[in-house]
Formats: sequence, structure tokens, C-alpha cells
Amino acid sequence: MARESLSIDVGGVCVKLKKHHLAKYIKLRVKKGGEAEVVAPTRTSFSAMASFAQSHAEWIVRTVARVREAGASCGSGVWLLGARFGVVFGDFRGVKFKAALLCVAKPQSFIFKDSFAVEVLANESAKNLNGVIIARDEAALKKLKQSIARAIFGYCFVRLKPLINGKVNAIRIKQMSTRWGSCNSRKGYINLSLELISRSFLQIEYVIVHELTHLNHPHHKPSFYSALALIVPDYKDKERLLKNKNL
Ligand SMILES: [Zn+2]
Repeated sequence: MARESLSIDVGGVCVKLKKHHLAKYIKLRVKKGGEAEVVAPTRTSFSAMASFAQSHAEWIVRTVARVREAGASCGSGVWLLGARFGVVFGDFRGVKFKAALLCVAKPQSFIFKDSFAVEVLANESAKNLNGVIIARDEAALKKLKQSIARAIFGYCFVRLKPLINGKVNAIRIKQMSTRWGSCNSRKGYINLSLELISRSFLQIEYVIVHELTHLNHPHHKPSFYSALALIVPDYKDKERLLKNKNL
């Protein structure tokens, strides 16, 4: 019986040549684990398959290296709007995916009692793909998080600001390790932690209302909490959620 498969060396990469009765034409693929193979109809000769693989040597070597590198540096994931996304780091230029989607969230508002879609355009170097964020490196991932934070926080702010009197001169998104936000009522600055983007939309809204309330009550005295309770009656629940590190 004729052999149905064979392995050859292409530029230092082991490529499996496989014949399959269901294959209609010759094709080349690199699997998720980084294995390269040529699959062809049973009538195809191994020498034709080998020369097909050799003629795509450059693509094989490059793609296998990328896929393996990406697999080796799979991040533990990132939280966005209360949902976990897997992260794959790697340079995927030239590698085609079935779908490169935008990051679309459909959050619920606790104040406006509605839900709506927020679309955030992923930048060129980082794309969201079915719950997995593909980013060139840590810096690209941070950039993506910042653009999502700007879009979501800005969106919330525009809706929430009319509920509170006071002037806001700037909203700044910062790397803050101990707080979700802060307010400089004298200068009219509101600072929000970049990490707040990991929290649910409800929690993000709460932090923004909390900081906006500080414009007129720059302290945590009872008058601050009574003003806050007028907008968020269950503010204690929201505070509890934000203190919980496990989301
Ligand atoms: Zn406060």
C-alpha cells in the first residue's frame, strides 16, 4: 500500500505531506501549534507536494515562527468592562484571520436605565478577535486600553455631567495604583485610573459620579454622601463592588 504521508525539511521546518481522499486541491497550512503541512488529493505525487512546499518556503518559515512565538507568549488575559479577554502577543502582519472585529461592548447604565452599544476602534497593532485581543506587544495593548478608556469614560462623562453643578476643565486618565479616581475641585480636574476600564460599566459610572460629586463636596463628610445618594441611592453596594479585587 502506498504511503499516505511523509515529512520533509523546508528551510529547517518539518513539513508533513499528507494525501487525503477528500482533498480537492493542494493546500498548505500552519496549525495553531505551529505544525506545517501540505494536504493534497490522493492522485498527487509526493514530489509535486514537496516542490509546492519548497516554493512557499519563505512563508512557511515566517508563519511557523510567528505562530510559535505567539503561542509561547500567551498572556494571562486582560479584563475590559467586567469581561475577561485572552491576550495573544505577536507580530501578525501578513497573517490573515477570518475576522478582525472591533471591540463592541453593550453595557448597562444604572442611572439611565438603558443599554447601548459602544464601539471602540482597535488601533492597527491590536485587534479584538472573538474574545481574544491580539496585540503586537505590551505597549500596543496599553495603547488599546487607553483608547477604550478614553471612549468609554468620555461617553459616561458627557451623559453624567449634567447631573452635577460645577465646572470640569479636564478629565485625565492615569496609571493610579491605589485609587480608582480623584478630583481636584479647585482646578476642576477629574483623574481616572486606567485600570477602571477593567470594571463593569456600572462601576465606571459610579466612580465618575463619585468624583463629580467631589466638585461641590471636596471631602468624605456626611454632606458628600447625602449628595451622592441623591444620584446613586445604592452607592454602598457600588463601593463594595469596587473594593472587591476579584471583580
Ligand atoms: Zn471620594
